[in-house]
Amino acid sequence: MYDPLKHQTPGRGEPYPASYWADSSGSAPMDDGSINSDISVDVAIIGSGYTGLSCALHLAEQHGIKSHILEANQTAWGCSGRNAGFILKSTGRKPYSSMIKQWGKETARGIYNEVCQGVKTVNQLIDRIHQQTDIDCEPQSKGYLRVAHKASMVKKLYQQSKLLEKEFGYSTEILSAEQIKKQYFDSQDAFGAIRFSDGYGINPLKLAWGYQQLARQAGVKIHPGSPVTNWQQNESKKQILHTPSGIVTADKVVIATNGYTPKGFHAAVDNRTLPVLSQIIVSEPLSGSQLAETNFLTDNVVMDTRALKYYFRKLPDNRILFGGRGAISGKDADDPYFANRLLKILRKSFPPLNSINFDYSWSGWISVSLDDLPHICQADQQGDVFYSMGYCGNGVSFAVQAGKRLAERVAGIEIPDIPFYSKQLPKFPFAKFRRVGQWGYFHYGMVKDRWL
Ligand SMILES: Cc1cc2nc3c(=O)[nH]c(=O)nc-3n(C[C@H](O)[C@H](O)[C@H](O)COP(=O)(O)OP(=O)(O)OC[C@H]3O[C@@H](n4cnc5c(N)ncnc54)[C@H](O)[C@@H]3O)c2cc1C
Repeated sequence: MYDPLKHQTPGRGEPYPASYWADSSGSAPMDDGSINSDISVDVAIIGSGYTGLSCALHLAEQHGIKSHILEANQTAWGCSGRNAGFILKSTGRKPYSSMIKQWGKETARGIYNEVCQGVKTVNQLIDRIHQQTDIDCEPQSKGYLRVAHKASMVKKLYQQSKLLEKEFGYSTEILSAEQIKKQYFDSQDAFGAIRFSDGYGINPLKLAWGYQQLARQAGVKIHPGSPVTNWQQNESKKQILHTPSGIVTADKVVIATNGYTPKGFHAAVDNRTLPVLSQIIVSEPLSGSQLAETNFLTDNVVMDTRALKYYFRKLPDNRILFGGRGAISGKDADDPYFANRLLKILRKSFPPLNSINFDYSWSGWISVSLDDLPHICQADQQGDVFYSMGYCGNGVSFAVQAGKRLAERVAGIEIPDIPFYSKQLPKFPFAKFRRVGQWGYFHYGMVKDRWL
């Protein structure tokens, strides 16, 4: 598998991974074909996930700037077409309690408002996709359960709930183990939960295809099969992007490659993120008796409190999507050990499913930043190159807000002064050894989740 720490391109025209989403979503909508001659554009966006698509859509609709998206493979071939589809009011991995400690309440509130706006924008765009295209993003019922995986985490969850209410007026419902069992599902690993009434699950690939349709209706050009393999600046300070069948000369460039950013791609982002594999399995559809025995009543989305988190949801056809960490390097990504490991945990959590199997398994590179936050910044002195990355596996809704802010940056409009937008991605110290650090963190996480 493509490994962003090892390879200089994610390929060219590669098909979607064999995911449940790619298998169940029908055909991709029309695009504008690969770049096949030299062209000059005002703005080139590299990467066609949610960040790139949102940036292009907002540039066209709010600033009258028609951009070209250059995508190595297919639209949303990276994380955006292969994630779990949880729309949550959050991003990154840094808890609000640490933000308040580091920057104070006002800044934390500014960040909270940005993530809220992200969800609002996604909800509005989903409504537009349903009105303006023939795509159904398959939103499920509202509700996100953050579940304590052991008794000692219940108190921590309740503290989180109190903090959200006190600082932001964001109410969550507190659920006991008994309530979870009776009203949601009967799992061995649920000792209590807080429930957010506004998180929900969607079909992530169809969502990206919906954004693609809206963007093309607004005049954006989308070019799959067009990896940027080389990048220079000419004497007139134009950005020269080489693709296999044509050179794109751009006034401005947006890097929207996130966890899929190739090795040595641009000085502004090199050695500033750690691509980490997240793995998903999708089970066979549950039978009537399996549904009854697990009391699996909910299609709310669920995540636990582990340092190495597991997440799951019941899909519209009664399959269970179950996810967690994957391999460390791309060469091990397809080792069946990682999917089987998830299956073992699914079976253990829900004993009536002890003979269930999975029909789909795949993985994708999330982008972890050193400070656990995404960064949406101008990359050069001139103001011609911009980037957004580092959502730490939490970007379905926020990448859209980031794309909107990127568009404002490109259009020369000031954006709010919060740490996401005012500080560059910090460099990893000893960047060559990032994976050794990741291995160490995984081992620490295993000990913490079990014993601490
Ligand atoms: C298994 C998994 C589950 C997840 N689940 C959730 C979830 O439930 N909720 C949530 O909020 N987040 C989730 N995430 C994270 C979320 O999917 C991402 O944060 C989000 O999709 C990032 O979007 P993006 O547009 O920035 O990047 P991506 O969607 O990764 O897009 C980057 C694109 O750049 C392209 N590219 C790279 N290099 C080049 C080049 N040189 N030339 C041209 N194109 C290039 C790639 O091909 C890729 O398509 C999950 C991620 C994974 C992997």
